[in-house]
Amino acid sequence: MQKYFEPFLWGWIVLAVIAFVLQLKIAAPYGRYSTAHKGRSVPNRVGWLLMELPAVLVFAWFFFSSGTERSVLNWLFFAAWQIHYLHRSLIFPLRLASHTKPMPLYIMLSAMGFNCINGFFNGYNLGVLQPQYALEWLFDIRNIAGMVLFVCGVTINWWADAILLRLRATGTYQIPETGLFRLISCPNYFGELLEWIGFALMTWSLPALSFALWTAANLIPRAIKHHQWYHQHFRDYPDSRRAILPYLL
Ligand code: NDP
Repeated sequence: MQKYFEPFLWGWIVLAVIAFVLQLKIAAPYGRYSTAHKGRSVPNRVGWLLMELPAVLVFAWFFFSSGTERSVLNWLFFAAWQIHYLHRSLIFPLRLASHTKPMPLYIMLSAMGFNCINGFFNGYNLGVLQPQYALEWLFDIRNIAGMVLFVCGVTINWWADAILLRLRATGTYQIPETGLFRLISCPNYFGELLEWIGFALMTWSLPALSFALWTAANLIPRAIKHHQWYHQHFRDYPDSRRAILPYLL
């Protein structure tokens, strides 16, 4: 499998670039964009659970598949990944308002596929290809910067999602007015982007970089769409806000 790993990974990165271009044109039809969907759907909470759980399981499966002893750092990277995905697959869906729109089945299936591939690349890399990060890496500036970015990213992402979910529980869309929302329309996406850039720095690996690129490919176009949507739906939407990067984009 090892000899095909890197060529497949490069193919996966090329796909991220294609996905970025496509998603600039078409917003994935879930959440606020799912109204036009006519095909089969699943309840939103079930969709989130089923599509995110493979990232937990597939990553863990390949992480443990070699049976080799792992360094403290490998365990740290394992914990970072699992904390994010256990929250995303088990806690986030429970916090979604029960009245949110159902999710198109094909969106759930394509996200499941994405999470299986992404979980494989990163789990196999940390479990089989690089099971022993040297302990000196703990004090390397790339690892330290990555950890800081990852922790800031998780904090921002969870905080921003919590604000949005609270607004959604009222039954309507509203303009969020606190903290980073004053600078950008989508702090939750900004936080998620920081997380995976941080993870790529921490692990200094091509699979993690591919995931950071995929996150950018999914979330930058969607943030631009959300930003346009806010301007279309709220006449008093603040002009000074950007979509996803404070002061820039
Ligand atoms: P959104 O910001 O579109 O929505 C999050 C929740 O908040 C939804 O329940 C939504 O309702 C609600 N909501 C959003 N804006 C408002 C508002 N102005 N007023 C009231 N309620 C609002 O995020 P996504 O659903 O796209 O993503 C959820 C999480 O998944 C995020 O943390 C994101 O970072 C992550 N994600 C990661 C990806 C990756 O590639 N790494 C890809 C996609 C998502 P409704 O759904 O009904 O619109």
